[in-house]
Amino acid sequence: MNLEHHFASLGDAFSSKTRIQPLLEQRLVEFNQSLATFLSIDIKSTQIKKILNGSEPVLQSVSMVYAGHQFGGFSPQLGDGRGVLLGEVRGQDGLLYDLHMKGAGPTPYSRRGDGRAVLRSCIREYLASEAMAALAIPTSRSLGLYDSCEAVYREQPEPGAMLLRVAEGHIRFGHFEFFFYQGKNSELDELVEYCLTHYYPNCKKTDSPLESMLTEVVKRTARMIAKWQAAGFQHGVMNTDNFSFTGETIDYGPYGFMEDYQPDWVCNHSDHEARYAFSRQPGVGLWNLNCLMRCFSKHLEKDQLVAILQCYEPELQSYYDDLMLQKIGLKNVKDLHELLPVLFTILKAERMDYSIFFRLLSQLKFNEFTSLVDEVIDRDRLTEWLERYQSTRLNDGLVWADVSKLMMRVNPKYILRNYLAHDVMIAAEKGDYLPFRRLLNVLNSPFDEHPESELLAQRAPEWGRSLEVSCSS
Ligand code: AMP
Ligand code: MG
Ligand code: MG
Repeated sequence: MNLEHHFASLGDAFSSKTRIQPLLEQRLVEFNQSLATFLSIDIKSTQIKKILNGSEPVLQSVSMVYAGHQFGGFSPQLGDGRGVLLGEVRGQDGLLYDLHMKGAGPTPYSRRGDGRAVLRSCIREYLASEAMAALAIPTSRSLGLYDSCEAVYREQPEPGAMLLRVAEGHIRFGHFEFFFYQGKNSELDELVEYCLTHYYPNCKKTDSPLESMLTEVVKRTARMIAKWQAAGFQHGVMNTDNFSFTGETIDYGPYGFMEDYQPDWVCNHSDHEARYAFSRQPGVGLWNLNCLMRCFSKHLEKDQLVAILQCYEPELQSYYDDLMLQKIGLKNVKDLHELLPVLFTILKAERMDYSIFFRLLSQLKFNEFTSLVDEVIDRDRLTEWLERYQSTRLNDGLVWADVSKLMMRVNPKYILRNYLAHDVMIAAEKGDYLPFRRLLNVLNSPFDEHPESELLAQRAPEWGRSLEVSCSS
């Protein structure tokens, strides 16, 4: 493994040297071979073992410092409280990727935390990030899961674990806020230069590099959130310290994948004001970008910053429309805007499962509505909608079966249902990783049929509907 240390070389103002502190009897229990191959990493090598057991630590590994708006309030100093950036490695695509360990022990930014992560949360993150990648949503990835026999104390003692993860970048909106609010202008400029060089080299070549880079960040964020909304993903903690400057989904805490269609759903049990409810995510994205733009109020004029922010809504809307057109199998946005709101009203009233509905819609045969109509109480209302939908789809002039086939490639059969993650965690805590692997396998190819895992595509049983997820992890 060829580790490079670009971020660490920015120096002490940006991070603190921090080493991984191993857990008792730490062992690699799951790893992502295709990602390891892509990064030319031999994850079982003695080099990695020695890094992780502390006998040959990476001398330049760091924890990053940043700030952030958390639930609307500004925290002037946060940082990797339990994460260590080992360095960067080059992927087969020629780009550099961060190698980051979660749960690596206390850092200068741990505040009152213990720097650790529990197995439960590492498993949740592993599953979610891989599920998101398979749905083609920009995300950090999971490379290796390490369990241990060391107890970590939350509400009760739980097995501790570490997660080795990979992302294009771990620079957050909060990195810029950290320097801006302290008036550290030269560090802010250095960070801008760093991001231009490493993440936005094409913007660097333009007449106004910062303006083009920020426009690109706005667009990437808009597209990422459009994908969340189309997939029914809820992040749960959209604080600016959890928003990546490279437009990747990072920081999987109390996230959720929508089951019953409920736009006002809140997956994070600690989010008492429903700030990060599913339907609010697009608005929060803009709010966060607004926080980011404020950091450049000395670099650019107000109307320039406003113009950059104004790219957000049209980008998100048009991207979302495209995704929904594919999901529903139609060609025209005008038709989509007529049919979708009515459909959402029906799904909400019927508490219909979002993914199951679209999967069934993909399999719909001409004039055969029973598979869907049997799922609802108000059969007439859905039949009426399906008739309108069918005639609209026919007007597009495409072959019915061809459209259905395309729909099957964008409407997953398998999503990460909360009760499935819960089951897998219970088994893993007892040392049984088979359910984890079985679930991961279907989430890795969620559009395919997996006849041996049919059960994993089903709605939650009664007990699995009221499970709560909070920030404690
Ligand atoms: P999050 O809600 O995951 O975005 O975390 C907010 C902040 O708390 C981040 O700066 C984390 O690094 C820090 N943090 C979370 N859990 C721990 C922990 N167990 N020990 C130390 N810091 C933590
Ligand atoms: Mg965080
Ligand atoms: Mg977190």
